[in-house]
Amino acid sequence: MTLTPDIRLTPSFAPAPISIDLLQSVLEELYAQYRSLQSGKIADYIPELAKMNPDWFSICVTTVDGQQFGVGDREQQFTIQSISKVFVHGLALEDHGRDRVLAKVGVEPTGDAFNAIVLDEQSKRPYNPMVNAGAIATTSLIKGNGATDRLNRMLTMFQRYIGHEPYIDMPTFMSERTTGHRNRAMAHLMLNFGMIDEKIDEALDLYFQQCSLLVDCRDLATMAATLANRGKNPLTGVQAVPACYVRDILSVMYTCGMYNFAGEWAYKVGLPAKSGVSGGIIVVVPDRLGIAVFSPLLDARGNSARGVRVCEELSQRFGLHLFECVMPGSPFGKDAIS
Ligand code: GLN
Repeated sequence: MTLTPDIRLTPSFAPAPISIDLLQSVLEELYAQYRSLQSGKIADYIPELAKMNPDWFSICVTTVDGQQFGVGDREQQFTIQSISKVFVHGLALEDHGRDRVLAKVGVEPTGDAFNAIVLDEQSKRPYNPMVNAGAIATTSLIKGNGATDRLNRMLTMFQRYIGHEPYIDMPTFMSERTTGHRNRAMAHLMLNFGMIDEKIDEALDLYFQQCSLLVDCRDLATMAATLANRGKNPLTGVQAVPACYVRDILSVMYTCGMYNFAGEWAYKVGLPAKSGVSGGIIVVVPDRLGIAVFSPLLDARGNSARGVRVCEELSQRFGLHLFECVMPGSPFGKDAIS
């Protein structure tokens, strides 16, 4: 048999470099453009989220070589909420390996809301680690000698990504804990099917604590950039998660990270991402940069309304879609890309 000589093993159009000068000015332009967008609603299921200011807005970028850019309320702290699920999934992979995590939590997008009380009919697994049921199952896998040790291991993991000491917002944690009846129902359902360990109160507390981690938009951009940089924090040089698991983390973010908007997001933005109910979105541009947007006004699917628009624009302007084909003479050519 003869091999066809002209099969190409390398992509014909490698991603073009991003002009750093242009990036800061585009962030400023998008900030000015979307600041006036007032659509959406602040999450109000607990008072700590309901009192967020609807005007808060920030866009930050960290590159894999450690440069940081940003506009708006970069230092405004908020609780990370569902974005934590990405990183706890990474820790569960580190603790148990791919096969054992997959035996307990699937990797299928659901099309249902993030807090749906639903398990896969056949396997009794929650659909994926990005919806609440899957995240509770993932959190229940975190190793440790009792609740304090498990919390400390989780905080140490977050510290590797953010590069400074992590803090939990106690009022948010207490409110999540007292109002989290749906999450409790999911944990009981999974316990009924033997999918999680008996210590469900410990797992639920850990889940409420991870949701209550305080971050600002710069932290989120650095966390995303760490994933873009194969698990190594570009600001500190610390390996936050073994590089071999970044593939798993990003795949699940790509297909499931934006809840029941994940398909349209993959189609339009074409990048692994995760959103949270406090209004954050992280986006990973592999081998290039991490993007974070924070704006608490949420659309009907629970994603930041301004955040979605900003990410759509950034992806389009810089040709960041993973399946983008930057042809010579394409509109992404000249001014967007140096
Ligand atoms: N704390 C929230 C919950 O468990 C997190 C959900 C989210 O950010 N989408 O309901």
